[in-house]
Amino acid sequence: MSHDQTGGTDRRTFLQAGAVATAAAIGATGSPIEAQAQEAAKKAEILPRRKLGRTGLEITMLEMGTGALRERGVLERLLRLSYANGVRTFDTAKAYGTEPGFKRWFEQSPEVRKEIVLVTKDGPREPKDMIPMLDKRLEALGTDYVDLFFIHGMGDDHGTAGAIAFLKNPELKDVAEKIRKSGKAKGIGFSTHHKDRAAIIDAAAEAGVIDAIMLQYTPWLDKDAPLNKALDAAHAKGIGLISMKQVAGRFPAVPKMDVLTEVKKRVPMLAEKNLSPYQGLLHAIWSDERISGSCVSIKTTEQLREDADAARRYEPLKTAELDQLRDAILAFGSTMCADCEGRCSVAAGTKAELGNLTRFLTYYQHHGIRAEARRQYAAMADEARDWKGADLEAAREACPNKLDFAALLPEADRCLA
Ligand code: SF4
Repeated sequence: MSHDQTGGTDRRTFLQAGAVATAAAIGATGSPIEAQAQEAAKKAEILPRRKLGRTGLEITMLEMGTGALRERGVLERLLRLSYANGVRTFDTAKAYGTEPGFKRWFEQSPEVRKEIVLVTKDGPREPKDMIPMLDKRLEALGTDYVDLFFIHGMGDDHGTAGAIAFLKNPELKDVAEKIRKSGKAKGIGFSTHHKDRAAIIDAAAEAGVIDAIMLQYTPWLDKDAPLNKALDAAHAKGIGLISMKQVAGRFPAVPKMDVLTEVKKRVPMLAEKNLSPYQGLLHAIWSDERISGSCVSIKTTEQLREDADAARRYEPLKTAELDQLRDAILAFGSTMCADCEGRCSVAAGTKAELGNLTRFLTYYQHHGIRAEARRQYAAMADEARDWKGADLEAAREACPNKLDFAALLPEADRCLA
């Protein structure tokens, strides 16, 4: 990992930090040696960091996302605990309502602000909206600068063409330069989970204004998938890349099945390395050198400790290990049908596996894993693929996601066969 600054030595450094901290604890109070030891211990406990493109920033491989933390007390406790566990990159947004929690944290512990990389987001319709929006975010956060200011959910409100036009608008360059020069944000960027994010990221790489992108990502992108190529283009231009909404996120509940144990059984590497499936997933993401860090929506102290431990023990995964993990996660991961027993096929009166057909189409069209989608389709029995004669309107009615099978299944045949 050429740009992994501390990952290779982290365990050793962490152990040394413990020894230094002990020495500090028994040393003479207030002595320079103690102060140095405490400083060394503080630095050594920070999670491994990577450079974020050309921004000049270094982010911890684990970034704390605050989108799911609405409860004031829980938010503030987890912010502090994340910091104490070595996280130094934090993500918020106007829409999350968590900025006031950061403000209170900075008021009570002012030294924290300069120790962390802080990202916030808002939803400008046009580039000229960005500076006044950034000013409001700074006010809400109680700080005079953030490290990165992101356009939230690029593509969601603008549409694909609108997002591309935004990124290529010459005004964006002027606004970005003004923001950087003002020091109110060191860089600008956007987050995106849009279905056309490959085209949106391509446009950002071409326009060359954006400093960083946080994207919904999977570590199993096909080499030729549009999203994979877009990430290559962005990385080559020095745009920093952060993953979010990682492929499985949290594993869904499947009735009568201990999914985590099942995944561990299928992936021997997890037991060999003493990793949980979530930790394995993070290692898979960090094995992509283009990705500087993962923004994880942290909701509990247990999850925080597990994810921080994953960062401390990170080692790149081998291809065979990635493949094992991919197969298990695609089998049990958060797909639209993971906790559904397949009532669409029953309602449609067919032996065709309508849920699987549409799921593989999603892998193909939206997850960028085309070869895997085709492989899984090819592995199906003939009757599981043959949906002709099925009552597709009844299937749609029965499906909790109200999938439009009449439109999707011909597409599945076209893309996957
Ligand atoms: S009913 Fe809908 S959610 Fe359930 S398996 Fe079929 S497509 Fe998936």
